[in-house]
Amino acid sequence: MKLDCPNNSCKQQLSGPKTRIGQPYACTACGHRFIWTDIFRSSESFVIYDLETTGLSANYDEVIQIAAVRLDAGCLCPEDNFFRYAKPQRRISSFIQSYTGISNRDVQYAPSPAQAISEFSSWVGDSTIIAHNGKRFDSKFLAASCSRYSLAAREVDCIDSINISKMLFGKTRGTGHSLDHIMSRLDLAASALRRHDARGDVDILGRAVVEMRCRLGLDNALNGVPRHHAEIPAV
Ligand SMILES: [Zn+2]
Repeated sequence: MKLDCPNNSCKQQLSGPKTRIGQPYACTACGHRFIWTDIFRSSESFVIYDLETTGLSANYDEVIQIAAVRLDAGCLCPEDNFFRYAKPQRRISSFIQSYTGISNRDVQYAPSPAQAISEFSSWVGDSTIIAHNGKRFDSKFLAASCSRYSLAAREVDCIDSINISKMLFGKTRGTGHSLDHIMSRLDLAASALRRHDARGDVDILGRAVVEMRCRLGLDNALNGVPRHHAEIPAV
């Protein structure tokens, strides 16, 4: 694959194998150091988010809570955040109530999941969305929700933060990439907010992404991190 050196006064055309994506590289012409990527993106606005749901199945279960915070030009913006409860059609099981701390009373007067996800989409705007294990879980829930509630959808760029963890800590089998593993490896302070409440998980994930970005030497557009697409409601 071919890539132009991101140093504007160089722009040397470089070539290398696809397996180089995510690896540190120094331009052979000017020595500029960067992380190899598929294409250079310039957008620096991200949304770090988490969903809590009534269970694991994107087809049968529903979103009950969404929390998110903006990451702009490499900095978290705690005041630029999003939070909604959503009221599912079926009652929240006692297992999920104890796992997340979210009760049926919490969601009693909340908007429907369709409404909450649509409001989330408006708030996201053009940002790229980041969730932990998002490719397997959160992105699937958003897409499944669009089709299930018959919402017109749009495509959004996504990053699964597990891939950032793999870039930093390696892909060796047995290397865990759960939020708990990452917290302990990065020596992050526990959140003042409850774990498995979306607000608590977003608080940790936000700090983890900022720290991993610094340690990896990624630019503010997170070039070099793999991306995928998800469907979220059109705005
Ligand atoms: Zn160069």
